[in-house]
Order: sequence, then C-alpha cells, then structure tokens
Amino acid sequence: MTKGKGKNGESRVIGPFRGRYRWLSNFFEAPTSYDGTVYPTTEHAYQASKTELPHQRKLILACNTPGQAKRSGRLVTTRSGWMKMRVDVMHEIVTDKFERNPELAVQLIRTGQRELVEYNRWHDNYWGHCTCNDCIEEMHFNHLGEVLMQVRGELWQRCADGSLMLAYLIKPGDILAHPEHGQVTLQGYSDNMIVDCRVEMSNGEVTYFKMADLIFVRGADNG
Ligand SMILES: [Zn+2]
Repeated sequence: MTKGKGKNGESRVIGPFRGRYRWLSNFFEAPTSYDGTVYPTTEHAYQASKTELPHQRKLILACNTPGQAKRSGRLVTTRSGWMKMRVDVMHEIVTDKFERNPELAVQLIRTGQRELVEYNRWHDNYWGHCTCNDCIEEMHFNHLGEVLMQVRGELWQRCADGSLMLAYLIKPGDILAHPEHGQVTLQGYSDNMIVDCRVEMSNGEVTYFKMADLIFVRGADNG
C-alpha cells in the first residue's frame, strides 16, 4: 500500500485512527446500539454481539472502558457461525454508530474518497494493518477500514436519494423559538438550493444533531 500525497500535500490515506481521527476508532466514545441495547462505544457493541447469552452481554455492557470490553469479549461463548458473520455484524454496528452520532457522519462524509486504514502495532491484520516488521509479509485485510468506507458510501447514497439530508440551517437560532413538541420546518441551504428542513422535536430535544450550523436530518422513511 502506498501512502501517497494528494494535491494539497495531505496524505490520501487516513490512519491510524488516532489524534484528529480518533473518532474513526471503535474505542471512541460514541453510543452505539446492537440488538436493542445501547452501548457506550462501538467496541462494546461489537464485543457483546459475539455472544447470544444475555448475561454475558450485560457483563460487556458494564465494562468501564472499551479496552475492558475487548478483553471480556475474549471470554464469551461465541454464537455459532460467528467467524463467518463478524464482518457483516461490524457493518451493522458501524452503520448504527454513524446514524446515532450524525456529527460523526458529517465528519466521515468529509473524508471524501480517502482510504481509511486502521494502521496498528498490535498485529491485527484482519481488522487493520499492522506496520511492525514481523507483519510485513502478512496479508493486511483492513476489514474495519473497508467497513468504514462502505458505510461512508452508503451515507452518500442516502443523501443523494433524499432519505438523509445534509444541510446548513440558515438561521440556527430559529430553533429556539419553536415549541417543545412536534415537527417544525426551518429553512436550510443544501446542494446550492434553499430547502425546508423538517425537524422533529420531542420533550424539547430535536432529532437533528448540530455541529456548528451544520445539521444532519433523518429522512422520514428512516425513522
Ligand atoms: Zn505486527
């Protein structure tokens, strides 16, 4: 794999998932659900998904850190067929991570076409790409990076077909003037057009998520 430089001198490859790209890591604190339970990180959700035993899932949910969840995940009774399904499960979980944390979805979309590689030093060439000397001859599957790029493409597609909308609110402050409940429509700017942004509110909380004045609205058919 070549770590080429783009026109602006920035590396075309993003990785490892540290520093300003730590949010791409499964260890990043971002509520993620699996099978009806919300876990504190994507790592917790993934480790819990390995087993079908409720008490083992609860133990993982109770782990204070993603590192602890990872270690606990090694002790669970894995469900049958796990090895064959784990990339699909990771895809499902990573999709939830970005749907549930749309400010991260905006950041993911902003990585454009750049390759995402979980470079690491812990010999994980299945989910990532270990850069130690001992692993030079290994195949580097980078499945986590591949899943992230797939999810990025799917988010793009859903923005294109209108089931997700990425827009700037023209006057973000207007949201404050609206009632606690129900649907409000605000003007936004998206794709060179003025658009109506429908925003659901419930108990004073809104279902759009704000990053500066950039919002991410769930489409009607996506709940
Ligand atoms: Zn290695």
